[in-house]
Amino acid sequence: MSVEAPVKKLTVKDYKSDLHNDWCPGCGDFGILTGIQMALAQLGLDPDKVAVFSGIGCSGKTPHYIKAYGFHTLHGRVLPVATGARLANSGVTVIALGGDGDGYGIGSGYFVNSGRRNVDMPYLVHNNNVYGLTKGQASPTLSKGKKTKSMPEQAIQDGINPIAMAVAAGYTFIARGYALEPKHLSGIIARAIEHKGAALVDVLQTCPTYNDLYTKEWYEGADLPEKRSRLYKLEEQGFDPVVHDITDEQEIVQKKAAAVIKSYEKEPIPIGIYYQAELPTYEDALRQRIPILADKALVDVDVWNRDIAALLEAMR
Ligand code: SF4
Ligand code: MG
Repeated sequence: MSVEAPVKKLTVKDYKSDLHNDWCPGCGDFGILTGIQMALAQLGLDPDKVAVFSGIGCSGKTPHYIKAYGFHTLHGRVLPVATGARLANSGVTVIALGGDGDGYGIGSGYFVNSGRRNVDMPYLVHNNNVYGLTKGQASPTLSKGKKTKSMPEQAIQDGINPIAMAVAAGYTFIARGYALEPKHLSGIIARAIEHKGAALVDVLQTCPTYNDLYTKEWYEGADLPEKRSRLYKLEEQGFDPVVHDITDEQEIVQKKAAAVIKSYEKEPIPIGIYYQAELPTYEDALRQRIPILADKALVDVDVWNRDIAALLEAMR
């Protein structure tokens, strides 16, 4: 998404709403909220030019706490609603977000098709392995054999791999962050906003109320004999996620394969950018088909007073 130069220095405070926050104390969602606000401040985006869309779940409340335009949509439906907003008003930075149950469960069809469409928009997924708002049932990312304190028995179906799914679907920016490292996360979110195309940021999120497996202490490796983090940063290992020549199909396949291989690494789990390629977007295709969109956003087009005589003639 092309981002205009900042007109004044903005800080995290400029993106804080004054609504009461009712997330549980210690919830990883606080870190994601801070990461988004830090990214907006880094990019110097005017709050009047930002619109944040959410699905349903604890994460769905995020737009309430951001001083910008916000839209709390339906369960699993954030991507089509945000896509509509993005295509209607190209002058606004649209951010879609939601939970793992929301996006990778009921919303999985939209998740896949948003990737192949390559609409210029980031999608942030708060991935805590449970449906937090409805008392902690296993979400699509909880692995087989795992049992959180809110489940009576172990999961008997396996978890999905969101990074590999995003690669297969066609997202052109794929990353993973950690909710309790908001500074690192904010850098990823800023890159995702700046990226021209569909961007997935899967964020590992702690849910201290229902997920007693993947806790802050677990991510810190507090139980390991040598106490080391269960996360590492791809960029610190020299991993290059960027496709440098988009005409080279071989390079695209190699970079996708490398991202998928990384996505199956466990303990330590890689965070950072897995894959990035600048390919033509859905908007590029629309502008070719409807030339007026090259000059103005759809909301500014006078759709009511168009001459449709030629269209009617063609349909005779
Ligand atoms: Fe956060 Fe879990 Fe509480 Fe929801 S239930 S607010 S995800 S800690
Ligand atoms: Mg969840």
